[in-house]
Amino acid sequence: MDKLVIGNWKMNGRRSANGALLAALLGETACNRRGVSVAVPAVYLADVAAQLAGQSLTLSAQDVSQFADDGAYTGEVSAAMLAEFGIEYVLLGHSERRQYFGEDNRLLGAKFDAASNAGLVPVLCVGETLAEREAGQAESVIATQLEVLLGRASGHLVIAYEPVWAIGTGKVATIEQIAAMHAHIKQWVLQNAKGADSIRVLYGGSVKAENADAVLSTPNVDGALVGGASLNASAFRKICEAAE
Ligand code: PGA
Repeated sequence: MDKLVIGNWKMNGRRSANGALLAALLGETACNRRGVSVAVPAVYLADVAAQLAGQSLTLSAQDVSQFADDGAYTGEVSAAMLAEFGIEYVLLGHSERRQYFGEDNRLLGAKFDAASNAGLVPVLCVGETLAEREAGQAESVIATQLEVLLGRASGHLVIAYEPVWAIGTGKVATIEQIAAMHAHIKQWVLQNAKGADSIRVLYGGSVKAENADAVLSTPNVDGALVGGASLNASAFRKICEAAE
């Protein structure tokens, strides 16, 4: 299966800068292909969808409402609304959302259902903090976060392992740490969330041009979720090339 690269722009971008960044990516065959996607702020989805029309690079969202039906949910964006823009993947439970917005498994389960029922592919993000790793709890923390998948896994399952201590810090996990956790995640999924047609486990946390080859050739790494480096066309291109 092809490796998947998703650029997570987080709360960055402006209309003119987005247009220039996307134009650069669309000119690169390594980026403008299926298996590469950009998760942009909701307010820019329409602009970016228009720019990506007829192209191979796909569009993703960074979050979705847990409420499936239209209604009085001020500020929310539903999965059905995202689907109108041809969104492929939706990030769920990114550590920043867990930290700043208190997202927990119950909420994420509802978001997972809303996304998948609307035909979007949820990308469940999991990751331990440094304190949890140092206390020897990394595997159990991840297993608890994966419980969102219990009774839910179907179709294409995508999980992003992002150690919190490696996000935006320049500290990438070692190849051994990544390989061990990805193997643990795959084993958990095979045992507990049967029935997925495909399972992909992406790594995220300070993936950049310089380490992309090493990260993406690690066993059980099926792609990358890229934050900071996805805002730079040449860095993102190198990561996309490493995934080819
Ligand atoms: P980073 O972010 O690549 O800037 O570390 C990754 C992420 O949070 O998805």
